[in-house]
Formats: sequence, C-alpha cells, structure tokens
Amino acid sequence: MLEITPIPAFEDNYIWALINRAAGTAVLVDPGDARPVEAFLAAHSLSLTGILITHHHGDHIGGIAALRADRAIPVFGPANESIASLTDRLRDSDKRQLPGNTTYAVSVLEVPGHTAGHIAYRVDEHLFCGDTLFVMGCGRLFEGTPAQLYASLQRIASLPAHTQLFCAHEYTLSNLKFALTVEPSNEALQARAFKVASLRESGLPTVPTTVAEELETNPYLRCHSAEIRANAEQFAGSSLANEVEVFAALRRWKNEFR
Ligand SMILES: [Zn+2]
Repeated sequence: MLEITPIPAFEDNYIWALINRAAGTAVLVDPGDARPVEAFLAAHSLSLTGILITHHHGDHIGGIAALRADRAIPVFGPANESIASLTDRLRDSDKRQLPGNTTYAVSVLEVPGHTAGHIAYRVDEHLFCGDTLFVMGCGRLFEGTPAQLYASLQRIASLPAHTQLFCAHEYTLSNLKFALTVEPSNEALQARAFKVASLRESGLPTVPTTVAEELETNPYLRCHSAEIRANAEQFAGSSLANEVEVFAALRRWKNEFR
C-alpha cells in the first residue's frame, strides 16, 4: 500500500512523498528544498530511497544536492533537460521499479509545454504531473508552444477518469477565480468552489485532483465549451479557429488576470 503525502515547501510548492510504511522508506517527487524534507523524514522515521524530477526549474530540483550528499540514491529525471546529478535520464514510455519499492513500477509520460522536456510519472492510478496541470489550471508556457502544452494536457485528460493528479503547487483559489470568469455558468465549477474554499479555510491541500474533476472544471480542458470560446474570442478581439487557439488565448489572458 502506497501512502502519498505532501511536504509543503516555499510559498506554495508541494513536494510529494511516496511512502512505504512497512519498509520505512520514501521516494520524493521534485524536492526543491532539502530542509522541510529532512525534517519530515526524521519526524516519520523514514529513509529516502530515491528522487523523481519532473523538470529543471529551481523550485523542483534545488534540494537534490543536499539530499544526496550522504545518500547514494537514484535520481530519475527527463532525458531532454540539462539537470546535474540525474542517475536515470528517462523518455516517454520508459518504465522503472519505484526506487526501494519492489511492489510499484513507475512509467513516464513526456508532457512538454511548461518546459521543453517536462515529464510526468505514473505510479498505479496516480500521476505526478509537476507544473503541467494544476487544479482548474495549467502551467505557464516558458519553453513550449501552446499546441505542445495543449497536447500534453489532452494526454493527461485521456487517462482513466479516476486517476489522481498530484501537481506541484497550490494555485487552486487563483485558478478558480479565473475559471469562474471564463465559464460562469458551469455548475460543476460553482459546486467545486465551495469545496476548495472550505479546504483552504481549514489549511488543507486541494491536491490531488482527478481526471474526472478536471474534465468538468478545468477551463484549459474545456476549450470545446461555447461559453469559454465566446469569452476567449472577446479577450482576443478576434475569432479563434480551433481549440488550440482558444487554449492559447486563455493562457495569455490568465497571465494578465488579477
Ligand atoms: Zn516549473
């Protein structure tokens, strides 16, 4: 049985810990800072057996060197990004055993767009998607094209509906505000607003989400919606030929949305 717990870091990052209680071991996804991780491992008497990296941004890789200083552990990461200290450079469809855990395998999906080589890790019915998809949102386009990120999001959306999505930031309330602006008549969105607001009021994470929930409420997965298209066209000041153009307009709009 795999236990998955967020370790909060920086302002709004989640470093995900995949814990095998029986063995007393943990694998981390995107440890941007070693300090909260060391405190967590000590508090729970866990030994670290491996690290999974989704992309090269500092708030995802900043803790690797300190965590490996006195541990000879594997560090998985994207083959198409330049990251020091990776021991396994992974490509689409690659499969590995979860380090230190003989029960679970991890498989790789390339999901470029936020960065050029961004990958996601699928473990059973769980996807660790880094900065590609957020709850009711998506990552910024730093290195890829709108078409690339749109295709990556569609790939995540095509996973089984109950797949749990573990993103790397708590951006939900800001994303919700934008989603309600672009699709105000979406009843699933209105219902979800109450749920996530009460979680945040209690100081709880809104992550993970599921493919099913995102299909109903994430505007970037709903570029087929007539209401979203009309609002995106109004923002763009022109008609938009297809869903990728609607997506690109939404992403530009969100960049300047307050
Ligand atoms: Zn990033």
